[in-house]
Amino acid sequence: MAKGPTFIILLGPPASGKGTQAAQLREALELSHVASGDLFRENLGNETELGLKAKEYMDRGELVPDDITIAMVMDRLSRPDCAGGALLDGFPRTIAQAEALDAALTTQGHKIKLVPNIAVPDEVLVERVGGRRICRVCGESYHVQFNPPQKEGVCDRDGGELYQRDDDRPETVRKRLKVYWKQTSPLIDYYRDQGVLAEVNGDQPIEAVQAELRAAVEKALRVF
Ligand code: ADP
Ligand code: ADP
Repeated sequence: MAKGPTFIILLGPPASGKGTQAAQLREALELSHVASGDLFRENLGNETELGLKAKEYMDRGELVPDDITIAMVMDRLSRPDCAGGALLDGFPRTIAQAEALDAALTTQGHKIKLVPNIAVPDEVLVERVGGRRICRVCGESYHVQFNPPQKEGVCDRDGGELYQRDDDRPETVRKRLKVYWKQTSPLIDYYRDQGVLAEVNGDQPIEAVQAELRAAVEKALRVF
């Protein structure tokens, strides 16, 4: 393993498979998985002020404002389990968030090692979202057809109840895709310019995507 903490960002549109891939990759790399959407949903479940504020935006399929999001993720990254780095999923989603993350890492003498971009055509994403089910306890993602749990409606990991996210309705999904193309896709060039981007074809079976990702990670960690 390369020296220094390992920060990897999984980039990709909604439902491209970031969470699914992160769940497998974090075990192999022994990295903490930091998913901004999961953090917002945890806050929502606990009815915190942050959660209630974020809900307004999430329900509309819009991004939660940068200041709230950056503060929440930075707080998470400052915890001891992220001392060795983190597998970031869903953050950053804007250039301002990416710059804030770069600034924070630079201050600590760290840098991002790899940004795999999981590319999937929009029409495939809409189909995936329709069958997505999430564990109420751990946030693990399943699909009724493409990645079903062993027992219907129950999480394989912890027995938690599986549910369909409110923002996975077709009209909200279309809005989220628009938001992705406008606000998040510029990050592809941002990280390409930094020399850390790796293109991954997300439009193939889960195991094939994981194999591509692992190859990219192995290559990047050898270089650093
Ligand atoms: P998906 O898994 O479909 O990509 P997420 O669970 O990551 O969706 O995010 C769900 C919602 O939470 C987003 O539509 C947005 O409202 C909010 N959210 C998550 N991450 C961010 C972020 N980095 N910046 C702003 N809003 C975010
Ligand atoms: P994201 O975190 O990017 O929003 P998820 O990991 O939650 O995406 O995946 C979105 C949905 O698509 C889930 O229902 C998941 O089980 C399913 N899925 C993930 N990867 C694939 C794949 N390669 N092929 C088919 N379905 C997939």
